[in-house]
Amino acid sequence: MNYSTLYQRSIADRDGFWHEQAARIDWRRRFDQVCDHSNPPFARWFVGGLTNLCHNAVDRHVAHRADQPALIHVAPGLGTERSLSYGQLFVEVQRMAAVLQGLGVVKGDRVLIYMPMMLEAVIAMLATVRLGAIHSVVFSGFASQVLANRIDDAAPRVIITADAGSRGGQLMPCKPVLDEALSLANRLVQHVVVVNRGLWPITMNAPQDVDYAEARNEMMDAIVPCEWVESNHPSYTLYTSGTTGQPKAVQRDTGGYAVALATSMDQIYDGQAGESFFCTIDIAWAGGHGYVVYGPLIAGMASIVHEGLPTQPDAAIWWSLVEKHQVSVMLSVPSAIRELRQHDPECLQRHDLSSLKHLFLAGEAPDEPTSRWISAAIGKPVVDQYWQTETGWPVLAVARGVQADQALKPGSQGVPMVGYQVKLMNESTGQELTEPGQRGVLAIEGPLPPGCLQTVWRNNLRFTQAYWSSFPGRKTYNTFDWATRDEDGYYFILGRMDDVINVAGLRLSTREIEGALASHPGVAEAAVVGVSDDLHGQVPHAFVVPSDPLHITQQSDRIALAAELTQTVDRALGALARPASIHFVLALPRTRSGKLLRRVIQAVCEGRDAGDVSTMDNPAVLRQLQQAVKGEA
Ligand code: ATP
Ligand code: MG
Repeated sequence: MNYSTLYQRSIADRDGFWHEQAARIDWRRRFDQVCDHSNPPFARWFVGGLTNLCHNAVDRHVAHRADQPALIHVAPGLGTERSLSYGQLFVEVQRMAAVLQGLGVVKGDRVLIYMPMMLEAVIAMLATVRLGAIHSVVFSGFASQVLANRIDDAAPRVIITADAGSRGGQLMPCKPVLDEALSLANRLVQHVVVVNRGLWPITMNAPQDVDYAEARNEMMDAIVPCEWVESNHPSYTLYTSGTTGQPKAVQRDTGGYAVALATSMDQIYDGQAGESFFCTIDIAWAGGHGYVVYGPLIAGMASIVHEGLPTQPDAAIWWSLVEKHQVSVMLSVPSAIRELRQHDPECLQRHDLSSLKHLFLAGEAPDEPTSRWISAAIGKPVVDQYWQTETGWPVLAVARGVQADQALKPGSQGVPMVGYQVKLMNESTGQELTEPGQRGVLAIEGPLPPGCLQTVWRNNLRFTQAYWSSFPGRKTYNTFDWATRDEDGYYFILGRMDDVINVAGLRLSTREIEGALASHPGVAEAAVVGVSDDLHGQVPHAFVVPSDPLHITQQSDRIALAAELTQTVDRALGALARPASIHFVLALPRTRSGKLLRRVIQAVCEGRDAGDVSTMDNPAVLRQLQQAVKGEA
């Protein structure tokens, strides 16, 4: 069956389609109803079915693939590589589950996980859902205050952490940061389980802190059966990246999530049991939850867990892993690929990538030069995809695992994936836009397919108000992204609604101006923001990272490059899109998940406080920005 037919069916015969997909996972008890949408916008999938995520990811594979690798952990900074077969993972998960159980964790409790990309982090997630508890993974690079807020919000019974992680040849402490966070948090936490790799000196505070190695020793033969939970029982909560404002805690179910991931692994990613899957996204983001942990394991694949940076010890590390472990599918983010290109454009040439079928990218639109470079260097299809923490799996993509009747289109994120009724809406009138080339808000008709957020954690009101009340008279999910669709039905994300600027009544997407700037060979990266202006309403200001900073050390060189860039934008988009100023900087502010923080740049330009920068990757970049704006104003 070709993709279009499959997709049509997923919409026209929603329940029939998902009923079939549900057979991809094991159910302890069959569900009574495929989808309960009687209380929109809430959707309940596979109502009455009993299942367990850990069972589907681990237990059910033991009979057929006990000796096959399930997880392959590689930490170049520590010089270690360790893999666990499905049989070993089955044993380890039960040991961890027994330790958690011993600390009183029961169904519905929250377990907060503050760990780097290490095997025990994945085991901790699986052990938590095995018990029917709910995990909340917090990125191990976040500082104590962000962590304290997450602790207060999740109110975990137990926190699991490590002494430290390894990133870019440096050790990053976890337990000491957690100690500080616990002193800042309003909640008391009964127990902290510490996986101590002996990387960083830590203090163990009895009776709160539990050494995992010791506790595990007591549980070597533990048998902990899966807690069978109703399909709509929450499996985890997770925060969005915080690119546009306060992060929101997304709550995900169990059965719908497992089915959606299983479907996506096969239809979208073309990942088959026995093959290796390499998702480079940290387990702390939705991408990592779905495609480092649950997706590949549900599919019976080996999942590569890489602890470190893409450029350490050198920019070929990923590709050496692809060769060594015969990776067939990769999922990564554009900012990492951009970094590889800047670091060492030849990095892919040194490895045999013949096992690789596809490279998928998600999270941001890749800029054109990066796209072109990676496609040429890798010689395999590079598939951009669009999704959100909220959706948990791709909304737009080109499915690679089904008979292809859709080619990849450069610059497009693809077509709607099964179950997603994607629309474009005029955000002022709330009317649906049906003509090719019209621009509007990307929206999804309810019910969202399985696997998407159930609600905002402990905040149904925020869920309905934030996502479902934008279009008067209808309950349609607002993605808050701005897009267009061509005559073949392909979508092109133009940026976030916040990033659309209004110059003298003309609506411009900052991403388009960035694209024009980045087409100049002197530009490595560009960010454009709309800054309020008395005359025009808003005007674009540009921040450019030059390809070679040495070329613009002289003021005259900067002026010359700025003039060329102005012309480039004029030619591509017209004079109204012309940036009012072009600042040269060495780096742009990004979130810890690698997304451009335009709101921070905008605040700096308007002389405002930068707001919540706790999710920002490198605070030094903010100071450079402030200097750039002051110095050249
Ligand atoms: P917050 O919601 O807290 O502001 P965030 O939206 O960055 O943060 P995520 O859920 O990590 O949090 O990111 C989803 C967003 O990333 C999408 O809404 C979209 O703006 C952007 N995005 C994701 N994939 C793509 C893509 N392929 N092309 C363009 N933009 C993308
Ligand atoms: Mg968002």
